[in-house]
Amino acid sequence: MSTYVFGHTNPDSDSIVGAISLAYLKNKLGEDCVATRQGEISPETEFILNKFGADVPELKTSYAGEEVYIVDFSDLAQAPKDIQDATILGIYDHHKLGDLTTSAPLECWIRPIGCSNTVIKEAYDYHGVKIPKNIAGMMMCAILSDTVIFKSPTCTKIDTKIVKELAEIAEIKDYKALGMEMFIVKSAVGGTSPRELITRDYKEFNMGSSKLGVGQLEVVDLSVFDKIKDDLFDDMKKLKNEGKLHSVILLLTDIIKEGSQLLVVSDDESKIESAFNTKLEYSQVWLDGVLSRKKQVIPFLQPLF
Ligand code: MG
Ligand code: MG
Ligand code: MG
Repeated sequence: MSTYVFGHTNPDSDSIVGAISLAYLKNKLGEDCVATRQGEISPETEFILNKFGADVPELKTSYAGEEVYIVDFSDLAQAPKDIQDATILGIYDHHKLGDLTTSAPLECWIRPIGCSNTVIKEAYDYHGVKIPKNIAGMMMCAILSDTVIFKSPTCTKIDTKIVKELAEIAEIKDYKALGMEMFIVKSAVGGTSPRELITRDYKEFNMGSSKLGVGQLEVVDLSVFDKIKDDLFDDMKKLKNEGKLHSVILLLTDIIKEGSQLLVVSDDESKIESAFNTKLEYSQVWLDGVLSRKKQVIPFLQPLF
């Protein structure tokens, strides 16, 4: 029987590459592991998998009765519906500790650093397992994505050091240029439905008795949203009603100007305003320097609920 390795719902590159890199490590350590995913991959992830010739992990959304390792999350809201009926053997993550619990002891690698793949690289080193060239390249891209090419406040010295080590293994000299190429792929939003854009990198959080959805789109120039902003707002309202959410927030992040335009649909806009000590205008506000949902958005919302 195989053990499954997967990341969060609406998987990002860290979740997909983390499933692949951790499954490889576990296989080398003698455990029969298969990388899976909970949802469709993004164009950025597709770019990474194509670049390094890797297969898309198999789609699997039900895990009752299975043994699993989870990567890049520990929140129930980002887990498969039947996760409580699976045995979680381990967690490799870099987020706040979520609300998942287990009935048996487990392996936990959770660190306050920029990317789950940085944590997984440390696990490779710990076990003395060599990383194949193509997996090293993908892990490097996942770290460049999560840390916004080292610009995010979540990025640590450990992440930059490990990117350099992975670049060497992957034989990639200009890793920042590759990172930028990746973000340009990510910035192409034309021909994509509002729902697909809002949920491309979207997470729901239980805060008190309320549920909030927070999406993020990281691009190299916010003008790509000029023509579609009204459509995004319309669909955020729909998403809010469908999910009975208190708020849906979309961060339009400009990675060059280093800040985010917040789009807000909420039962109580004043809560969002007080979280960021600001005023919304037409349900929007620019937050200078805000690049990270995990470090600069969620921790300010949570105490208000
Ligand atoms: Mg992630
Ligand atoms: Mg991550
Ligand atoms: Mg991210």
